[in-house]
Amino acid sequence: MKISEVTCKSVVVKSRIYGVDYAVNPYTGCQHNCAYCYATFMKKYTNHREPWGQFVDVKVNAPSILKKQLKTLKKGRVLFSSVTDAYQPVEAQYEITRKCLTQLEHASFFVSILTKSALVTRDIDILKDLSCEVGFTFTTLDETVRAQFEPGSSALQDRLHALKEVSKAGITTYAFFGPILPFISDTPQAIATVFSILEEYVSYVIVDKMNLYNTSWERIRSVLTNWNPELIPKYATLRAGTDYESVLRKRIAKAATVPVEYCF
Ligand code: SF4
Repeated sequence: MKISEVTCKSVVVKSRIYGVDYAVNPYTGCQHNCAYCYATFMKKYTNHREPWGQFVDVKVNAPSILKKQLKTLKKGRVLFSSVTDAYQPVEAQYEITRKCLTQLEHASFFVSILTKSALVTRDIDILKDLSCEVGFTFTTLDETVRAQFEPGSSALQDRLHALKEVSKAGITTYAFFGPILPFISDTPQAIATVFSILEEYVSYVIVDKMNLYNTSWERIRSVLTNWNPELIPKYATLRAGTDYESVLRKRIAKAATVPVEYCF
């Protein structure tokens, strides 16, 4: 894993994500190394030769740049993060996300965190004083599957424990159930299990299907080849186009026990 310290000229960017005004990305690259990651295109903005998931650029001046940028921005909703995970392991050492959050303490922006890391519980002291919500991503509740598709992320047990801790602290919590892994976490039973486990701790769930773009397909196929090659032809069928979306929507609508927002 190559960790480099870099400086940035800007750390808040306008976001086109639905319901989000700005995104803060304290790092470029992500140790979580998810097979389906849609942010791998960020590699072209670096000089790294390492594959995605094997490098992180730490924006060491991000907190001071954020402080300056906040003075010039209209109030809005700020997502941590859109093309990295603000609580990936390197954050334990550098605390760039924590220092960025302290810049938001006296600003009237709404902070939305989305992570696959239990490290977020470290910042409960700051988050309690912010106008914010904390979301945890779940693509599966099977730890074996998690280790295949999100090898660098927090174990599911730790992630669930963190969700409970944040919720217990009185901070609004939500779950991002996605991308839902076809033929793995998209069965009626798997979806019902996700809702039954999360319902007690989250205000709502955002759901998303798996997008099998050419860029992510190579990485996903590589995981499937080593782990469960029988799924490859099934995924190939999905890539060719089916009525999968409507089937999935119906399954989710049937299983949902908290409000749901669909990304597809
Ligand atoms: S946590 Fe997010 S940004 Fe990081 S590798 Fe996974 S999908 Fe990509």
